[in-house]
Amino acid sequence: MMKTTWQGIIAEYASFFGSPDPREAVTLQEGGTPLIPLETVVREIPVPVSLWAKFEGANPTGSFKDRGMTLAVSRAVKKGARALICASTGNTSASAAAYGARAGLRVFVVIPDGKISRGKLAQAIVHHATVIQVEGLFDHALRIVREVAESYPVALVNSVNPDRLEGQRSVAFEISDQLGSAPDYHFLPVGNAGNITASWAGYKAYREAGRIGTLPKMTGVQAEGAAPIVLGHVVEKPETLASAIRIGNPASWQGALTAAQESGGSILAVSDSEILEAYHLLASKEGIFCEPASAASLAGVLKRARAGSFSGGERIVCTLTGHGLKDPDTVFHSQPPEIRVPARKEEVLAILGFS
Ligand SMILES: *Cc1c(COP(=O)(O)O)cnc(C)c1O
Repeated sequence: MMKTTWQGIIAEYASFFGSPDPREAVTLQEGGTPLIPLETVVREIPVPVSLWAKFEGANPTGSFKDRGMTLAVSRAVKKGARALICASTGNTSASAAAYGARAGLRVFVVIPDGKISRGKLAQAIVHHATVIQVEGLFDHALRIVREVAESYPVALVNSVNPDRLEGQRSVAFEISDQLGSAPDYHFLPVGNAGNITASWAGYKAYREAGRIGTLPKMTGVQAEGAAPIVLGHVVEKPETLASAIRIGNPASWQGALTAAQESGGSILAVSDSEILEAYHLLASKEGIFCEPASAASLAGVLKRARAGSFSGGERIVCTLTGHGLKDPDTVFHSQPPEIRVPARKEEVLAILGFS
């Protein structure tokens, strides 16, 4: 029989979601993303390990947020919702705007002033969300939308919505299916900490269902300037070029700690220059363009490797959470000098070194 196309996480993993019926799902066929071996970058690690990137930039709106959004929006529609609201550093709003448009709902996104990358803002606008910039930080925006959704008939689709986290478990199901078992380590960037919480829940659910026998060590990576969990206190003014993890008071703080502790993993911080190193390695050596926040996961792997944390033989997966096209400005900040020549073949050949 011919292989059918991927139907989206609700249909593909229906036995792990009580509702909705897959035929009623609001879906863009999210999930089913590639697990790419990093055969060049792995040579940066002094001992022989296996390393893969789960490239979540291949989701319909370019980030893992679609995994939770399909479930949250499907269930909101079943409950009769007419409008969605979220606070966002960008990718949640892009995903809410797309799934809201597909379901015929109004979407309101509340974003921190001037801190959203242009690609993500373009997504919210093109899908006809109402974009409200507040003169404050993400944490302020989240407080506002939580209060609004408590008292007014709009469905909150931030990761504090348990449907979001339930959907985001699916990345652990897929990685396990793609490898044939759970990896030894799973590294991922941590902002609001919903993703590490959900990924850990996913592995545990998969083991309970008898689909895998072991669990990975969950390793969360924060940016040094926005590392509340590592520091053990709220960061009032989080600073990092990795805007998707520029969060000073994570909503799922406890979930991240639990994931790290239960799994024997940890939470660490990496500097912006370590993030950029990983970002450029992925793009120039592996052909993978992810956003800066995503590269924090690989930066964490490299930092741990250089500290001698791996003994050899480990199977390591890092989640690359979003697509690099969302945030092209980071590229142009480190652009090589422009080459301009008269429009003659000889001029081009000289640059190629054939003259
Ligand atoms: C949302 C997001 C994160 C952070 O995920 P949390 O669940 O908030 O920890 C990291 N990278 C990208 C690209 C994101 O969109």
